[in-house]
Amino acid sequence: MPLYYCLENDIEGAENMSENGKDKIRGIRIRTVSYTMIFLSIVLYLVLLYATRQVSNEYEVVVAATDDYIMCDAQAAQLAQGSNYLTEQIQLYVVTAKPEYVHNYFEEVNVAKRREHALKELEQYNVHPETHRFLEEALARSNQLMEREIYAIKLTALAQGADLQEFSETVQKTVLKREDENLTPEEMQEKARQMIFGIGYQEAKALIMSSIDYFVNDAVSNTYKNQQSSFSTLNETIIWSKVCLSILFLLNLITFAMIILLIIKPLQLYINCIKDEKRLEIIGSYEFKYLALTYNDIYEVKASHEAMLRRKAEHDALTGLINRGAFEQMKQLFTANPVPLILLVIDVDKFKFINDGFGHEVGDRILKKVADALKNSFRSGDYPARIGGDEFAVIVIDVNESEKDVIQRKMEKINRMLMNPADGLPPVSLSVGGAFSKRGFVDDLYACADRALYAVKENGRCGCRFYEDLDERKNTAQ
Ligand code: GH3
Ligand code: MG
Repeated sequence: MPLYYCLENDIEGAENMSENGKDKIRGIRIRTVSYTMIFLSIVLYLVLLYATRQVSNEYEVVVAATDDYIMCDAQAAQLAQGSNYLTEQIQLYVVTAKPEYVHNYFEEVNVAKRREHALKELEQYNVHPETHRFLEEALARSNQLMEREIYAIKLTALAQGADLQEFSETVQKTVLKREDENLTPEEMQEKARQMIFGIGYQEAKALIMSSIDYFVNDAVSNTYKNQQSSFSTLNETIIWSKVCLSILFLLNLITFAMIILLIIKPLQLYINCIKDEKRLEIIGSYEFKYLALTYNDIYEVKASHEAMLRRKAEHDALTGLINRGAFEQMKQLFTANPVPLILLVIDVDKFKFINDGFGHEVGDRILKKVADALKNSFRSGDYPARIGGDEFAVIVIDVNESEKDVIQRKMEKINRMLMNPADGLPPVSLSVGGAFSKRGFVDDLYACADRALYAVKENGRCGCRFYEDLDERKNTAQ
């Protein structure tokens, strides 16, 4: 099988091996982690959004509760002011008997109506019915007290002999009790004073104020309850928000660490490896390990292809020996590196007859057989090459001149083997010319070996001679 077929099989093998290797990759998958992070972040942001809405709702509840309380307090004060105003005006009238105080009194009752307005205003706010009831009660008590006050007005007016036509219809319609009808003006005046400044009036007034106080206390307690419930929800929501923010912060830190360790670091390393034309280290996330294995596969396939191409370029496809081009490079190498060496130039004898008599294919098999014989006979450090059609050469290194005999015997052995084939191929022989150099591949070394080869051919072929042993050279030397 030709050599490059073997190499192609090796490449396929390497590819399959790598595919198996990829199955076994273990590592953090950036894709999975990213999706998880995105999912967690979305969930946390939604929780935060909900928490923010909750905080804003609870804040509005607190503000509304505070507004309600402020309004309750204001309306309670208005009702108290209305009631106190009536008390003040009635007291002034009973003491001074000036009708303008009665006028002010009824102005408050019929026009200003601060007490009624206070209750009406409250209806717009979210006041608990129980609380509201206290203020209604205060108004009812105030209205009740008005009967006493109007009675006192009538008594005072009668005591002063005032014209009742000037007074409100309510005063005119008020009927005196039987026991009061026969009182003297002084007694009437005194009774009116008793009704307004006496203990009964004070008690009734205190009841009105206590209803207002109950109302305010209840409003305070309701506001406090509402605020407390909102504060506890607010606290819970704020704790949840802090937890979410901490987790989000942690997720951000993990993301940064992942980017540095699993992406940036391997990326920098890979860039350096690619610049240096080295294999990639299997590090980082699953994706980078996969990338490194894929790159390494391509790297190996490319290296194998290059090796195969190099081998094809340097070797002879038929025999597997180095070819003429590579032989020329070896010449250069040993010219620059002046070690003692022997060059053998080998030519198959009468090869044309083999081709003509047995066919080209048999000729090829003989060439291969010669190459194998050369490969097997010389050391692995020597360089057998096919330098032409039926021409071979061997550079034998690490030798001294005295080893020419050993080489001569090797070539004779090869010739004996070729002349007595056991494989059914026709017998052939080789003519070999050699030359020794102490200082590497000197300029005329090839010509000397070729001269020796020519001498063998001249001398009947099938043999091995060294240039140094030729008669003509000996003569020249003499
Ligand atoms: P000599 O003893 O003088 O060398 O005679 P020869 O017939 O061997 O003559 P020569 O060396 O000049 O002939 C070489 C022949 O080798 C000529 C050519 O047809 C044959 N040849 C060259 N390359 C190949 C090859 O790759 N395969 C085969 N089968 N024959 C080749
Ligand atoms: Mg020949």
